[in-house]
Amino acid sequence: MWVKKTPTEMLEDRRQEKRARFLLAVVLGAVSCVLVSITKNWHSVYQGGDFFVTLAEVPRRLPDALFFGLIVGLLFYRFKTKDRTVVCFSCGKAGYIGTTSRCSCGGELGKMAGVKWKKDPANHRR
Ligand SMILES: [Zn+2]
Repeated sequence: MWVKKTPTEMLEDRRQEKRARFLLAVVLGAVSCVLVSITKNWHSVYQGGDFFVTLAEVPRRLPDALFFGLIVGLLFYRFKTKDRTVVCFSCGKAGYIGTTSRCSCGGELGKMAGVKWKKDPANHRR
């Protein structure tokens, strides 16, 4: 059965989620930065140019690339969508946050991020 997490567990979850999001933002930003600094845009490829820039060109492109990487990382960190999955406390069915806060079975829906699975002691005869 699904049970609500305690406030302490929620806090720890949020801390971990924030740390993971930050790390991912840094990685994405760094990857974007590297890609921009070593590759040319598609326009030049269509015109028959090389896809990769020469090594001598990299330092000149680095400031722009760093800026681009920073923007990508910030945007990702700011706008990453949260988990919108909800579960029903009564029947355990999962769904997405919609217009109703009730499951079709009449049970209460809770956010997936706020609940954890616990073995039902009454259902433990297997
Ligand atoms: Zn239900």
